[in-house]
Amino acid sequence: MKALVLEEKGKLSLRDFPLEQHLGPGDVRIAIRTVGVCGSDVHYYTHGKIGPFVVEEPMILGHEAAGVVLEIGSEVTHLKVGDRVCMEPGLPDPTSRASKLGIYNVDPSVRFWATPPVHGCLTPEVVHPAAFTYKLPAHVSFAEGAMVEPFAIGMQSALRARIQPGDIAVVTGAGPIGMMTALAALAGGCAKVYIADLAQPKLDIIGAYEGIETINIRDRPVADVIAETTDGWGADVVFECSGAAPAVLGLPALARPGGAVVLVGMPVDPVPVDVVGLQAKELRVETVFRYANIYDRAIALIAAGKVDLTPLISATLPFADSIAAFDRAVEARETDVKIQIEMPSR
Ligand SMILES: [Zn+2]
Repeated sequence: MKALVLEEKGKLSLRDFPLEQHLGPGDVRIAIRTVGVCGSDVHYYTHGKIGPFVVEEPMILGHEAAGVVLEIGSEVTHLKVGDRVCMEPGLPDPTSRASKLGIYNVDPSVRFWATPPVHGCLTPEVVHPAAFTYKLPAHVSFAEGAMVEPFAIGMQSALRARIQPGDIAVVTGAGPIGMMTALAALAGGCAKVYIADLAQPKLDIIGAYEGIETINIRDRPVADVIAETTDGWGADVVFECSGAAPAVLGLPALARPGGAVVLVGMPVDPVPVDVVGLQAKELRVETVFRYANIYDRAIALIAAGKVDLTPLISATLPFADSIAAFDRAVEARETDVKIQIEMPSR
């Protein structure tokens, strides 16, 4: 089967790739239809590693996917052949201590698609555990199904924040995850979500949603705008989605006394934190790493029409043009949010 293979840092090829695809009793075989290109895939392409994860041998990329069930294992009951599905790319050890606690996203033994040495899903067929495969309602497209993975991170962030109806939220950083977080916060009950960035095209895309206000930090500091709109009180919840050191340092100034700060963005290197600033308002600090037990909720919100992710799909390229799709993602155009790759249907 053909696959999009990261041969080594900076070198992609679309070629035949032998993959062990044994269908166990709890597995399903899936024909991949749509795969989103993620910042992490692009980072492995351009840098060959993320933190301790280093690409040491050829690896198939892609982890944000939707497809159709082709075959089910003998013990699978909740899915059938022909079901349209999306897949959770991280597989924990179900008997691990973390899994038993319900926090399988931080199971040290989790195997995650397209995180070395685990192959991703940019190939026509994959075998996946049915327990981590979710049925899509008929009116939810494959493109939307492939958006569930990044949206799940926004959902995890909103859940961590423990939003209460009518909260005011601020999101620093309008990358794909910042946008997903803003939409999840809004769907989760926020009255208004402010989102700050310095790229106006990104702000224009997310600002088109009702309930989301944008702040271009080239024009005005976020803290000034939030102070002005909240009579100096601050936001109930602040989501840091930029990973930028000044944004992390400035978090306490944005939150109200007793509010919450959620660290979503991942700084490449350690960054300073204003501990006293956090203490002086008794802010609750939460962190987010991927997600656990989120897919059902994310799909339910999309299916209910409460969240529309389709405006965030900027371009769709055929599988044959996968390398071009990645090269466009590397360009990081300010008008691009999510680029998707589509497999030929069969
Ligand atoms: Zn992703």
